[in-house]
Amino acid sequence: MNCLEVRIKIIQFLFGELTIVELVEMHRHLAECAACRLEKEAVEILLSGMNCIQECEPVPPDIKEKIYLKLAEDL
Ligand SMILES: [Zn+2]
Repeated sequence: MNCLEVRIKIIQFLFGELTIVELVEMHRHLAECAACRLEKEAVEILLSGMNCIQECEPVPPDIKEKIYLKLAEDL
């Protein structure tokens, strides 16, 4: 798995939607790649911020697409 693949799959990773094989590859890459670790942490912070909003408002159905777009901008 390369950096691009990892970044595309970070959201699915954090939502627990990856297969076991993808999870293993993701962990292996994150252990070696500081840039992707930082990216994962940034997305985690973003998601935890959304969880706070979620308590008051329903989650927008397009939230994942919005995060994907944001990640695409950073690439
Ligand atoms: Zn990487």
